[in-house]
Amino acid sequence: DAGVLIVGAGQAACHLAGYLRDEGYPGPVRVLGDEPHLPYQRPPLSKAYLGGACEAGALTFHDHEHYAGRGIELTLATRVTRVDRAERAVLTADGGRHPYRQLVFATGARNRSLVADTPGVLGLRTLDDAARLRKRLAGTEKAVVVGAGFLGLEFAAVAAARGVDVTVVEAAGSLMARAVSPVVGEAFRAHHEENGVTFRIGSTVDSIEPLPGGQCRVVVDSEPAEAGLVVSSIGVEPNAELARDAGLPVRNGIVVDERLRTEDPAISAIGDCAAFVRPSGAGRGRIESVQNAVDQARYLAGSIAGRAGAYDAVPWFWSDQGGLKLQIAGLSGEADEIVLRGDVAARRFSAFRFRAGELTAVESVARPADHMAARRLLAAGVHVTPEQAADDCFELKSLLA
Ligand code: FAD
Repeated sequence: DAGVLIVGAGQAACHLAGYLRDEGYPGPVRVLGDEPHLPYQRPPLSKAYLGGACEAGALTFHDHEHYAGRGIELTLATRVTRVDRAERAVLTADGGRHPYRQLVFATGARNRSLVADTPGVLGLRTLDDAARLRKRLAGTEKAVVVGAGFLGLEFAAVAAARGVDVTVVEAAGSLMARAVSPVVGEAFRAHHEENGVTFRIGSTVDSIEPLPGGQCRVVVDSEPAEAGLVVSSIGVEPNAELARDAGLPVRNGIVVDERLRTEDPAISAIGDCAAFVRPSGAGRGRIESVQNAVDQARYLAGSIAGRAGAYDAVPWFWSDQGGLKLQIAGLSGEADEIVLRGDVAARRFSAFRFRAGELTAVESVARPADHMAARRLLAAGVHVTPEQAADDCFELKSLLA
């Protein structure tokens, strides 16, 4: 039995390997990853690690002994270059050949590049990226962040807290525009501004030019400025080329069905790289979050072990930005009604998003209890009215009784 072969040794891969053993899967479980490090958590890279509050060793999920003890064969620093579906094997850059019975793509995503390979522009995705940024932050007076998404804002918060003069440039009209309601974006903007971050909203970067001494000349809306550090955080693209080259459908991610299988029943995809049919009528797409990677890993392990049923976990997400916590339950797709609960001025509130009278997502700013209730309500499919959501005296949990 060639067992389960997992490509990518990140969040989803590491969890799938463990869940397969939890399920009692008896065959070989092998993980092939191209990074040189033991599988590690990415969220702290833009938070505690970047800020110097923890070291790289604290980010790894497990040590080598753990994997060996569970019969998980982990091969690092090895890039998979091709999948031979006819022979059920993958080929690696070092000339290796690894057979499989079940193949799982857990290849994640990579940063979209800003101005192709401009020297001096850094991204944040891997531990190596974060180590480089952390080092550079120490000697930087002025930084420009391109993109006011979660990562760009987390970076901005850490940099500002370290005394760096930070400007965030964002082409859209508000912060985190693809993911949250404008009122939530505004709350975070005010928070970051209080902490010294400057925003250029609705602005675009015309050019970035490296200068001698590691500085960059950044032109925003025709205005030039100099910065010691430019961080590009304009989103990611899925690592889906292996699947595409193997003849599998790829549409902004590796296309999978409700059981997370590709068109080839021997091949699945999970985590950031997988384009699946998302809940709440959000359509086919990818979700980039720890929850998604872990829940899909758990589901797929069960499915490989013979369990029936479709993947249907409620998405949730968090982002920590300089002491202010954002939590999202559900998916913030189109909404025709947004109801607020709590104190917006004090930045302790939740935005409840409804479509056609049904709750689809809840974005909570420093309101962890709302977030936990929302996850449970969405999972149970309980009907919540906008009036109940808006009434801070109404116990949402009572709907679950
Ligand atoms: P990854 O963890 O990215 O792992 C994929 C691995 O596959 C990578 O190591 C990649 O190098 C490897 N790979 C790709 N191609 C190949 C190949 N051909 N051969 C071998 N290996 C290959 N999510 C949250 O929910 N909350 C947060 O606060 C949060 N913060 C984040 C902060 C940062 C800085 C980053 C980068 C992400 C953050 N995320 C957060 C997102 C979360 O970390 C990802 O959604 C999650 O890691 C996805 O898991 P994955 O296994 O799909 O991909």
